[in-house]
Amino acid sequence: MLPDLYWVYKKLFNAFGPQGWWPTTAPDENKPVHRGKPPGLERERFEIIIGAILTQNTSWRNVEKALQNLIKKKMIDVNKIAACEDTRLAELIRPAGYYNQKARRLKDFASFLLTEYDGKTTNLFSHDLETLREKLLCLKGIGPETADSIILYAAQKPIFVIDAYTIRILRRLGFEVKGYEDAQKLFMSNLPNDVKVFKEYHALLVHLGKNYCKKQKPLCNSCPLTGICRFSKGS
Ligand code: SF4
Repeated sequence: MLPDLYWVYKKLFNAFGPQGWWPTTAPDENKPVHRGKPPGLERERFEIIIGAILTQNTSWRNVEKALQNLIKKKMIDVNKIAACEDTRLAELIRPAGYYNQKARRLKDFASFLLTEYDGKTTNLFSHDLETLREKLLCLKGIGPETADSIILYAAQKPIFVIDAYTIRILRRLGFEVKGYEDAQKLFMSNLPNDVKVFKEYHALLVHLGKNYCKKQKPLCNSCPLTGICRFSKGS
């Protein structure tokens, strides 16, 4: 029998505790901190958007280095990103990899926000969830995972974020998911429609995927899901 996904959430939460995603930087800090609170400031929401774009195809550790460069230069600002020369921005975000392409993406996003929403995330996020998702997915370089991360963590609207860890874990648990949309539907139809649960659950799955359910040699013996996981039972 397949496990109940809400039960899996509670099991992971009890084992790992709150993960506090998405980390943001207060005005007197020099690096993002996991505080687990909704982003109250315009600057925090914009920082989450920058992080969601930078984290494509790289680890959070590298994103943090790029963010620290931007924070040091006081660049977490839509006007400054839009006005920054491509080469300078690329140099600042170099640790995140694909830096020329990502610099272009950040500038495109900043121009979009300035032109269509007066530079304010609150204006962009006043759309309903479906419209917001459509608008984000129309932007070059913003795919479902990036769009949904922005919607969930910056806009605080209930959508479940799927990533490669999530798909791997689901399949190992025994769920036959075809891909992103399929996995997203599965979570959203089996969980309460709750931003807090969606935020925490995604972060818990990332923690599980990174530290236990690794691609090669998963650490099933110490994994909190071992008793209910089809893969660990060897079937
Ligand atoms: S028991 Fe093993 S395969 Fe199953 S979720 Fe845990 S680490 Fe992954």
